[in-house]
Amino acid sequence: MAELERTFVAVKPDGVQRGLVGEVISRFETRGLKLVGLKMLKVTPALAEKHYGEHKGKPFYEGLVNFITSGPVVAMVWEGKNAIALSRNVIGATNPGSAAPGTIRGDLCVDIGRNVVHGSDGPESAVREVSIFFHDGEILKEWGRNVDSWVCE
Ligand code: UDP
Ligand code: MG
Repeated sequence: MAELERTFVAVKPDGVQRGLVGEVISRFETRGLKLVGLKMLKVTPALAEKHYGEHKGKPFYEGLVNFITSGPVVAMVWEGKNAIALSRNVIGATNPGSAAPGTIRGDLCVDIGRNVVHGSDGPESAVREVSIFFHDGEILKEWGRNVDSWVCE
């Protein structure tokens, strides 16, 4: 399946504190994506800079780094057909005020600086972010899921 992709998703510290880890995982599971990597960790300032380097110099950068390093996050790798765009749709617009109902941000949050979840925004960032947070051996590459033929043609 040529369109099979992997993407990086994280429940941010606000989502962990608010008890939304299960809810977030559930949204990706029920959409039909497959979980192939999962861990809980505290993001260090160095890791935050690596992950959010593209935003360095923007007015919200310092607050973003303070926020993402403020408590544990749950890091995940999700796999599936068109997984990157699909995940962005599950997550919703960056600013919860503009996020559609039915999306995680549209249903569960209020503020752009407390938007519960991260998802890679394209194929390059997906590869980069997965490799920042996971060693190759931590990703379960080929576990067969019996329902797959009921999710994709
Ligand atoms: N962010 C913020 N204020 C802004 C823009 C972004 O606090 O004005 C934060 C927000 O948490 C967002 C993250 O920075 O999720 C990364 O921004 P990006 O534009 O990459 O949004 P995303 O890819 O998370 O939708
Ligand atoms: Mg982004």
